[in-house]
Amino acid sequence: MSALTELYQGIESCQDCELARHRNKAVPGEGPENSNLLFIGEGPGWHEDQRGRPFVGPAGQFLDELLASIGLKRDQVYIANVIKCRPPGNRDPLPEEIQTCSKWLDRQIEIIRPKMIVTLGRYSMMRYFPNQSISKVHGKAKKLNDVVCYAMYHPAAALHQGSLRKIIEEDMLKIPQILAQTDDLGETEAEPEQLSLF
Ligand code: URA
Repeated sequence: MSALTELYQGIESCQDCELARHRNKAVPGEGPENSNLLFIGEGPGWHEDQRGRPFVGPAGQFLDELLASIGLKRDQVYIANVIKCRPPGNRDPLPEEIQTCSKWLDRQIEIIRPKMIVTLGRYSMMRYFPNQSISKVHGKAKKLNDVVCYAMYHPAAALHQGSLRKIIEEDMLKIPQILAQTDDLGETEAEPEQLSLF
């Protein structure tokens, strides 16, 4: 059994927080085990909970379009979430739920070993850009250990606030260049503002 398959089984049978009692299906994430690019969203919504797959609702449709704008299909990248089960009524995940679930995402990243992690929205941004505001940090990259972390607004934000659409599209278009540069970037954990690649 592959390491990812084993991980999926662990996630699907996880009962470590209250969300397990409310879920229809857990949503472990999907994509190639050796993907260079890992996108991390927030958590499953209604559509994802029904199907057990990430980003398959309206926000996912926009994510697919954004990927197409840089010449990628969704099955060429890895797509995961901070939490693996849908919070009831689509409420925001609680800090303790994020904490309890973080072991699964940590292990996922350990297995995939991406070159670049793209955070979609505030919850995944907080893992790599703590105490930052997404309005400041979006479109910026920093190298942390061996991985370049890059923050973007959540695709759903464009569906609620049309003015963000162009910003999200522009941030996505920067990804190929950053990915191509990952090996050249020095290792550092300084403030992301100082590390903007632009
Ligand atoms: N929003 C997310 O953050 N993740 C999904 O999988 C779907 C919508």
